[in-house]
Amino acid sequence: MNARRDDLPYAGGSDVGLVRSGNEDAYLISPPLYAVADGLGGHSAGEIASSIAVETLQDTAPRRADAKALGRAVRQANTAVITAAEDGRGRSGMGTTITAAMIEGTRIAVAHVGDSRAYLLHLGELQQITDDHSMVADMVRRGTLTLEESRHHPNRSVITRALGSDPNLLVDTLEVDAAPGDRLLLCSDGLTSMVEDQLIEQVLGASHTPQQTVDRLIGYALDAGGQDNVTVVVVDIERGTDAGTAQDTGSRSQQRSGSRWALGLLWVLLAAALIGGAIWGTYAYARSQAYLIEENDVVVVYEGVPGDFAGIELHWRSTSTTITTAALDPITASRLKAGVRTEDLESAYALLDQYRAQANESLSATPTPAP
Ligand code: MN
Repeated sequence: MNARRDDLPYAGGSDVGLVRSGNEDAYLISPPLYAVADGLGGHSAGEIASSIAVETLQDTAPRRADAKALGRAVRQANTAVITAAEDGRGRSGMGTTITAAMIEGTRIAVAHVGDSRAYLLHLGELQQITDDHSMVADMVRRGTLTLEESRHHPNRSVITRALGSDPNLLVDTLEVDAAPGDRLLLCSDGLTSMVEDQLIEQVLGASHTPQQTVDRLIGYALDAGGQDNVTVVVVDIERGTDAGTAQDTGSRSQQRSGSRWALGLLWVLLAAALIGGAIWGTYAYARSQAYLIEENDVVVVYEGVPGDFAGIELHWRSTSTTITTAALDPITASRLKAGVRTEDLESAYALLDQYRAQANESLSATPTPAP
């Protein structure tokens, strides 16, 4: 798995970086299967989540470049992470991204969740073939943030999907047809948050071996500050010069690779549009909701929905008040601990008026603290 050989068409590497105390990333090189996972949860739980994910993937992955089947393996990895947390391995709330690729000749099947990326250096040009499931990527898709701004946004590492929380996790899958000589890159955000695409393209395009390429990419991430764990897997797509294995894919498929690539790209775009729509729908729904909740003994109004999902919070504080929950009846006060949801912000403020009236009444009539 950690072979450092320059004559192999694939290589991987991982570095803790210069800031973090532990490495929560994991990667898998088990040709024709490759994966990168970026664990979250802290205190070594993230490390457990990412290793369980890649181990389960290795055990359950198909042996063909079938994106749907690979997606099912990722869902099994999700179940394994959830079960592990329930069994007391790691801890609840731990999670991980995963980006997995299965290569068959020039065909690449990809399944992914989170913000670890797959890129293809196709005919010398870098193409990002996965769409990040992250808050800033959503904002870029909605047009409220530019790509450049997203690189420096304080919430750039907040992801909207991860293995480990939702049993019905949605996994993105896609298949692309590469050309012989192309290069596949899988990496954690510790690379892409530190190194610009342009430099990644240059390094992949230079005639280094996969191992040299991995080492150089990690080196650039560290030079740029190494703020996060950085993990890189590079795989050369077969050149078709090996007569033994290239026989039946030969020139026929090479001629067709152009149009099949275009078709692959169309799929990627179509998938992106669908996913973008779903995320937008979630945000629009959350934005239309509201709730009241107790914070530091007073009532606070929020837009959105209470709690969090995979570390993502879909709520925005609207206003704080001086209404103390001690001045409200005990049932209302206890409901406010978990949050009282309303249909919209207007209803939330109407309810707040009722609470205010009740609090004023109780304060002027019986100024005794609640039991
Ligand atoms: Mn990371």
